[in-house]
Amino acid sequence: MSANMVALAYLIAAVLFILALKGLSSPESSRRGNLFGMIGMLIAMVVTLQLPSVQNYAWIFAALAVGGLIGGSVARKIPMTHMPQLVAFMHSLVGLAAVLIAVSAFYDPAAYGIADIDGGLHLASRIELFLGAFIGAITFTASIVAFAKLQGLVSGRPVTFRGQHLLNLLLGLGMIAAGVVFCIGQGWEAFLLMLVIALVLGVLLIIPIGGADMPVIVSMLNSYSGWAAAGIGFTLSNNMLIIAGALVGSSGAILSYIMCKAMNRSLFNVLLGGFGGQVATGGGYDESAEKRPVNAGSAEDAAFLLRNARSVVIVPGYGLAVARAQHALKEVVDKLIASGVQVRFAIHPVAGRMPGHMNVLLAEADVPYDIVCEMDEINPEFAETDVALVLGANDVTNPAARTDPACPIYGMPILDVEKADRILVVKRSLSVGYAGLDNDIFYMDKTMMLFDDAKKACEAILKSLD
Ligand code: NDP
Repeated sequence: MSANMVALAYLIAAVLFILALKGLSSPESSRRGNLFGMIGMLIAMVVTLQLPSVQNYAWIFAALAVGGLIGGSVARKIPMTHMPQLVAFMHSLVGLAAVLIAVSAFYDPAAYGIADIDGGLHLASRIELFLGAFIGAITFTASIVAFAKLQGLVSGRPVTFRGQHLLNLLLGLGMIAAGVVFCIGQGWEAFLLMLVIALVLGVLLIIPIGGADMPVIVSMLNSYSGWAAAGIGFTLSNNMLIIAGALVGSSGAILSYIMCKAMNRSLFNVLLGGFGGQVATGGGYDESAEKRPVNAGSAEDAAFLLRNARSVVIVPGYGLAVARAQHALKEVVDKLIASGVQVRFAIHPVAGRMPGHMNVLLAEADVPYDIVCEMDEINPEFAETDVALVLGANDVTNPAARTDPACPIYGMPILDVEKADRILVVKRSLSVGYAGLDNDIFYMDKTMMLFDDAKKACEAILKSLD
């Protein structure tokens, strides 16, 4: 294939990646977006594999087969609720790949076509290697720590200590200084020192992040992994990798910004790993919560409330995903709509455990997109709503986020369910949610608690609606 044809194929793949991102921005077009992304990636891979610099097909196909098998089986088995840790783990692999390519290019520049006449590295290549390697190293260790926190292998609590920011700053400056020495002098000691500092920095940037702030961090790491790939694209002189990396890097940064806005956090703090002090337990049972009286009801009571409402707004949360209750819920919704009740869904941007989690679940159950509303759109409607049905959600409805400056999610915009005439909460107990907080809406006079698994509750409500 001529160089022009390669450039044209890469251009087509790049356009497909952009169309993929555009498609993924809305649930209605997301399947099409995914398809564009897959076709783009196929073109990029086939074209890259036939480049003259690619020689050892045996190794490449062996790696593709092993990676494909592992990836395919993990993707089939992984529950949707474990997606964030899977994504964090994938980011760590991108970071590691960037570091390994940088190290191998450093030791054998001629193999990458970046050697100068003495067999060393051009200044431009050294700068590219420095950028790709340090972003990759930070991404690698930061993603491993994020994975361990999300998987529950280590505590989700923030780890903070005196002088943490100063230490991070000094390490950051040390890493840049080592990188500059490497760029000027080519020494392997400086390159190694820069890498070691970046690996340590990756850990230090993530440990102060509290559990409830992990969504922003996962999308931030997504962005980092894109920039690491773009940096390595320069080393390999591969335009496709530069473009794809830059797209991932910038879209991840935009998503992080959107998530920060949704959580009312500052992006600057996230970049500096500055969420220290947030306390999140990531689950458990709040002893004091049990002592406050609640109105508990049965599935028949819930069905009665719903059947007699004119308007119902459903707030799905993480519990819906755990119970895989979306299909049973859809049947309840169909029945209510058929009997003349206006039903809408209220989606909080960080409901569940990954961005868009609830949209994916509802799309799986074929819930029509026009009754699925974003937070800003639905919040003014709660005051006119007869019943707010909170299904496996907790933090995203917690009024303490508005009123209690001491609470870890203070400032995060929430769904205003307490403005509805009646609140119906379906969950298994009075246990806390991800941020480890009790929720005042459970104890309100107008609230009825239905203590059950979300799927069983929906099935029982459906029976009672018959
Ligand atoms: P929460 O984690 O606040 O609450 C979920 C509730 O679901 C729990 O209180 C639990 O109560 C209930 N539940 C669990 N299993 C079931 C079940 N089988 N049936 C019925 N209920 C069940 O979820 P939200 O969606 O309200 O909030 C999301 C939280 O996760 C936020 O704090 C957010 O910051 C965080 N987060 C979000 C990410 C994202 O990208 N969206 C990523 C990482 C974290 P009980 O045990 O009593 O049933």
